[in-house]
Amino acid sequence: MLKYRSYTADNLHTLPQYGEIPEEQIHIVKTVATVYPFRVNSYVTENLIDWSNIPEDPIFRLSFPQEEMLNPEDFQRMSGLVSTDAPQDIIRQAAREIQLLQNPNPAGQMELNTPLLDNEVLHGIQHKYRESVLFFPSEAQVCHAYCTYCFRWPQFSGLESLKFANNDITLLLDYLKEHPEVKDIIFTGGDPMVMSTALIKKYIQPLLDIPTVKTIRIGTKALSWWPYRFTAEHDSDEILSFFEQIVSSGKHLAIMAHISHPREIETSQAVDAINRIRSTGAVIRSQSPIVRHVNDDADIWEAMWQKQLQLGIIPYYMFLERDTGPKQYFEIPLSEAVEIFNTAYQRMSGLGRTVRGPSMSCAPGKIIVQDITEIHGEKVFVLKFTQSRNPEWTNKIFFAEYDDDASWIDDLSPALGHEEFFFENEMERLYTCS
Ligand code: SF4
Repeated sequence: MLKYRSYTADNLHTLPQYGEIPEEQIHIVKTVATVYPFRVNSYVTENLIDWSNIPEDPIFRLSFPQEEMLNPEDFQRMSGLVSTDAPQDIIRQAAREIQLLQNPNPAGQMELNTPLLDNEVLHGIQHKYRESVLFFPSEAQVCHAYCTYCFRWPQFSGLESLKFANNDITLLLDYLKEHPEVKDIIFTGGDPMVMSTALIKKYIQPLLDIPTVKTIRIGTKALSWWPYRFTAEHDSDEILSFFEQIVSSGKHLAIMAHISHPREIETSQAVDAINRIRSTGAVIRSQSPIVRHVNDDADIWEAMWQKQLQLGIIPYYMFLERDTGPKQYFEIPLSEAVEIFNTAYQRMSGLGRTVRGPSMSCAPGKIIVQDITEIHGEKVFVLKFTQSRNPEWTNKIFFAEYDDDASWIDDLSPALGHEEFFFENEMERLYTCS
């Protein structure tokens, strides 16, 4: 019988591989997990982690907190509290102070993306780009994975004021009536695939009757982190039938799979799940950030995109790590990321070049670093919007001064004598008006 076992810092000793984790590493996990969420399930521990290679194993690093995710002073502080069995409220308070200094609300998600309906704020809905709206179901505020680099970490850490969540689909329906320009609805979380099929239907079914909505997207890690969701759970067949129903209603159903490493799609369980989803007419696209210690290597991306192509998954995005949480541990300079992207991209056939990146999902939009070049003797980054708050910015190319260490748009300055990037004035106006 299929059993979902979940391991946290509190029950880590029940993990069958517990004896293989050095004591020092266990203390690190317990310490860092006070600040950043940690949970891993039995499918991952049994099928994806190479226990003979910890702590270097990329899937271990993706799932288990590491010491360097905290700065040395914070680590010492929390380590002291954990070692001395300090009362839980003292630990929680100390952790909260650290969390609030980690930019828990990056890219203006709260201030800029939350829409209004009849002057009421629509919590749990984000409308950043003209054609697409994100919906965060209340019941999907957890995830099958708690990736150590997750930019949604505040939602899993009990920072209630930073949660986006809603359980009232009628608000979205009313909003869509007033916004026929919205073509895509993106269900995200956490992970919507933690919900039962009945709940998923509650949210998606009403959208099938709205002619202006053309595409339903579901962002999920379940495909590779708990593939049994599509093959062996009590309502797996129902979810696949519902996928078929969505497709036969004339909507495009896109499963936006979060896949960070080729190993995630090499198991027979993941392959079965992929085949079953594709048989419904849904299309699977893949996206992931490039992060240090997990996938900072062109060979890994080439192998991952190649495997995806073979399995019928469309490579979609390579993201850069957002400026939140333990960014300093995972971040990759733009110069290195573009080198890794271009090397892997150049090795793909045309079918694999559907992927875009490396992309910064920042307040003005999605900006990809296309290349590094020289213009009139000045070394510059070539940047391009693939998605933007103002649709007229999309596909526009612009330039930033080359900087070896830059890892995010905020680190960059305009090149070629410009004082500001072309979109900055308008962004400022948007901020002021919001
Ligand atoms: S799958 Fe995505 S939302 Fe879930 S923990 Fe990982 S990065 Fe966060």
